[in-house]
Amino acid sequence: MLETLKAALGDKVTTAPSVLESHGRDESYPERRPPLAVVYAECLPDVLLTLAFAREQGVSVIPFGAGTSLEGHLIPQGPALSLDLSHMNKVLEVKTPDFVAVVEPGVTRKALNESLKGTGLFFPVDPGADASLGGMAATNASGTTTVRYGGMRQNVLALEVALANGEVLQLGRAVRKTSAGYDLKDLFIGSEGTLGVITKLTVRLHPIPEHVHALRVFFEDLEAASHAAYSVLASGLPAARLELVDELGLRAINRYLGRAFLEKPALFLEFHSSTASALKAESMLAIELMKEHGGLEIDIAHTAEERTLQWEARHQAYWALVNHYPGKQFMITDTAVPISKMPALVERAQQWMQETGLEGSILGHVGDGNFHTLVAVDPSDYAKAEDYARELVEHALALGGTSTGEHGVGLRKKRYLEKEHGGALHWMREIKKLFDPQGVLNPGKIV
Ligand SMILES: Cc1cc2nc3c(=O)[nH]c(=O)nc-3n(C[C@H](O)[C@H](O)[C@H](O)COP(=O)(O)OP(=O)(O)OC[C@H]3O[C@@H](n4cnc5c(N)ncnc54)[C@H](O)[C@@H]3O)c2cc1C
Repeated sequence: MLETLKAALGDKVTTAPSVLESHGRDESYPERRPPLAVVYAECLPDVLLTLAFAREQGVSVIPFGAGTSLEGHLIPQGPALSLDLSHMNKVLEVKTPDFVAVVEPGVTRKALNESLKGTGLFFPVDPGADASLGGMAATNASGTTTVRYGGMRQNVLALEVALANGEVLQLGRAVRKTSAGYDLKDLFIGSEGTLGVITKLTVRLHPIPEHVHALRVFFEDLEAASHAAYSVLASGLPAARLELVDELGLRAINRYLGRAFLEKPALFLEFHSSTASALKAESMLAIELMKEHGGLEIDIAHTAEERTLQWEARHQAYWALVNHYPGKQFMITDTAVPISKMPALVERAQQWMQETGLEGSILGHVGDGNFHTLVAVDPSDYAKAEDYARELVEHALALGGTSTGEHGVGLRKKRYLEKEHGGALHWMREIKKLFDPQGVLNPGKIV
């Protein structure tokens, strides 16, 4: 069967075992299952050809970006082709006066920012991994700057998508706002490759802030740190980044990156402003608030290089923990709650971890009410970590929150959707049937 596909697409199709292995897994989900073959698409016609082949042969297609997702999004649930879009990696156009870039889906967030050097503009969404923009749109990713600039939904203006039936749609417009009809662009953002293949994106860019102030504040305990984070939000201070890293996370970072951070729960903050005086006033107020809330030590990043080191440390926290616990598997939670409830959930998360005898780290984007617990377990204890995650999600839902703030549903979070969405889940299933009645695109995920 695959010979037909190879005849049409040549060496863009591979069945090399190592490539199949790397496409049948993600960065965290315990299950692995190789696809039948991997197709490296180089253009829209390659995507359409793969979809047509899948329809004819009754196999499914799983779009693949950079493979950094965490919830089982990429694991085939039956015979499947992995459609790898990493070779569609051109920045097609940068429209500087409009603050807009048009890119292919395989461009990574770092590559886009690299190509923007000299324009005075940047793309803000920064998940810890160097993910592809297609994958980031498909998971509605966010990152450390989301508290100020928004996540993918706020930063993708338009999409080109190929539907399972081979139709190609242009969704959205390169404008800041529109009220024209049902918002199909936003429906495809977060659809995890189940409704269509994203083949082009128009993204919003932002001016690089003239003045930046970054600092780290250390606290006696997590409770004090999370209350201090809430105080920043409640004061209306326009934080551009507001991240929590616990003691264990900092210990792991110190060992992994050779840093010397105080090993106490910390907030990593950053403020952006167009004038030095506004930045100074905001920073002074932030420092005052931190002291009021028990900040023990305040380290200021004085240079751009120090700032880069600070945020590199935050972005490397997961790898530092993986390195800290060799041979362990990680269960990563991703709850988000209304911001006033965030300190209480952080406290509960830590308390439960201690009560259940599990080990792990708590960190995340507390400025968005979103944090992760990274529980490190022996593979034989994975069920215990899953029970812990379930408790945490149910508590977050009871507080009016969500099971996943940014990582998406994949396979792992499916079980919570009914509780989270009630009757709306039925309509999500209807939408899936409408766009993909044959179940070609990433079946078995989300709904
Ligand atoms: C160390 C680390 C830190 C992370 N930090 C964050 C974080 O801070 N915030 C965050 O949001 N996430 C984070 N993640 C998770 C992950 O990076 C994001 O989910 C990211 O958006 C996935 O992008 P990707 O290109 O790797 O997609 P993939 O993993 O390749 O795919 C993810 C999903 O998108 C679909 N997909 C991929 N490309 C397309 C396309 N072109 N069209 C349609 N569907 C497509 C796939 O089918 C799959 O369902 C982190 C992961 C790691 C390993």
